[in-house]
Amino acid sequence: MDHRLPATLDMARAFSVLFVNRRAYTIQSMRPHPESGRHYYYRPKAREAGEPVELTLETVRRHLAGEITIGIYAINPITQRCKWMAIDADYKMALEDLIKVQRQLQDDGIEAALEKSKRGGHLWIFFETPVLVREARIYIYHVAGKLAVQVKGAGLADGIEIFPKQDQLRQEQFGNAIRAPLGVHWGARASRGWRYWYYGADYKLDDQLAYLKGLKKVTEQHLQSIIAGKTVPQEFAQQARRTERPRYFESRPGEFRILDYVVVRRQAGRNWVTRCPSCAAQGHDKSGDNLAISVEEPRKYCCWAGCTKEMIRAAVGRPIADRRLA
Ligand SMILES: [Zn+2]
Repeated sequence: MDHRLPATLDMARAFSVLFVNRRAYTIQSMRPHPESGRHYYYRPKAREAGEPVELTLETVRRHLAGEITIGIYAINPITQRCKWMAIDADYKMALEDLIKVQRQLQDDGIEAALEKSKRGGHLWIFFETPVLVREARIYIYHVAGKLAVQVKGAGLADGIEIFPKQDQLRQEQFGNAIRAPLGVHWGARASRGWRYWYYGADYKLDDQLAYLKGLKKVTEQHLQSIIAGKTVPQEFAQQARRTERPRYFESRPGEFRILDYVVVRRQAGRNWVTRCPSCAAQGHDKSGDNLAISVEEPRKYCCWAGCTKEMIRAAVGRPIADRRLA
């Protein structure tokens, strides 16, 4: 079955009103990674260095048509606001949890749209005007606490994931992208029909977009009234503050990734900070803050005590064999 569908710029416009909150985006690789078999996302490259690649209506149209698949970012770092939230659940009891959450939202006067995914789904909430990310996240953490639904965090395999994943971003940050709805999932392939749709309408682009447009949007005033006096529940407070581990974009097979070998302890400015493996091998760096890893580009790391890259690589058991390949 062909995965392409006719899509127009009008459809792209309707989609953008709902989902596009900033112009940065990612593209899902059509080919699976040779080792993991996964279809990774990467940020499209600019023709000229330093020039940001911005999402256009034509790119959105191609996403809807099934020619490419894009990932979108929730947070606009200029305003620290989002126009949607998505609750991602992908585990055995995922759908049950999402339906519980959806019912609670309904009780709070919020209409949410359930989109299928591989094992569970994504529950989407749309705001009439962009709201402060921090406030939107307080609400969902509060709902999760009330329903005893797990939120995925350190050491927890199962649980919902809340997009946006951060309360705020610095200007140069992106946060975590989520696969934009209504397009093709290259990992799903023909056996699953290529696309995951919203349950609430016929599985056609026009009907799906009309359904989403017709949903009652949450106003900022309503959001603020339901979170009045509430904070992130204690059990989630630490992970809610936690910044996400950075991702390696355009990862190459077999590439050395320092974050696979260390556990970051905290973020200090533009760096992750942790114990340097080479210092540790000599019994040094007991305070665990010699190694700095760039948040923006985790391929860059250095030891403040002066360990060389060669020493650090040797200490984690991945010595540099040939400098030209390092
Ligand atoms: Zn060191």
